[in-house]
Amino acid sequence: MPELPEVEVSRQGLLPYLSGQSIVGVVVRTPSLRHEIPAGLDARLTGLQVDGIRRRGKYLLIDCQSGGGGGWLLIHLGMSGSLRLVPPATPAQKHDHVDLLFAATVLRLRDPRRFGALLWHEGPDVDRHPALAHLGIEPLSDAFDGNWLYAATRQRHAPIKPLLMDSRLVVGIGNIYAAESLHLARVSPLRAGNRISRQRCGLLASAIRSTLTASIAAGGSSVRDYVHSDGGAGCFQLACAVYGRAGEPCPVCAGKVRVIRQAGRSTFYCPRCQR
Ligand SMILES: [Zn+2]
Repeated sequence: MPELPEVEVSRQGLLPYLSGQSIVGVVVRTPSLRHEIPAGLDARLTGLQVDGIRRRGKYLLIDCQSGGGGGWLLIHLGMSGSLRLVPPATPAQKHDHVDLLFAATVLRLRDPRRFGALLWHEGPDVDRHPALAHLGIEPLSDAFDGNWLYAATRQRHAPIKPLLMDSRLVVGIGNIYAAESLHLARVSPLRAGNRISRQRCGLLASAIRSTLTASIAAGGSSVRDYVHSDGGAGCFQLACAVYGRAGEPCPVCAGKVRVIRQAGRSTFYCPRCQR
């Protein structure tokens, strides 16, 4: 599933090719993904220019505000979505649902499982769009640090791992990144949010930031492949310490990595060194 680092790498990869380019047409081959695809996209978008691409959580926000009647295109890759740049007139394959046409390239959205989303926000204030309005803090923003995490968890009795994965609190920390960050900070995924000290909140916030940053850097080397080739997830292979390693030795203490279920998801952790 595309996570924050994959979406960020897509953003960085697409930006130089699309920034300043005018949309010359839109082809929609599917009436709906997770939501209905807005009607009349071709008429609305043709002639608009891409002024930039932002990311909010796992949404890519394509800024098409310049010129009258502009707005923002919101793209979410869901479970299986990918974006590719292909040469104009490249035949569409089975799961290629939407094409954004430019003079020299085509931005193609493929999504076999159709859990992704493509939405249009008319006007400038995209952060007020219903899909974004409830989203929590960005973990790579300056505001996200130990003091923020400490304050945000004082009234939270739930275990820290599902809290970290709650996008209303903090966005873009998926299952792998939550497990790896908690291990890096030596915090147990079972510990109640409000039972983590200010100092350990600082360690955890740093661990989240460095885990996400390392993954973006790993993907960064494959940006060209990511946006040009078969649309695969690129090279995001983190050297995982605990995720997917149940029964194997913890790289820190050599204790056995355990897997449990939390909020319907698998949680991998080391009971010996995570407290
Ligand atoms: Zn350990």
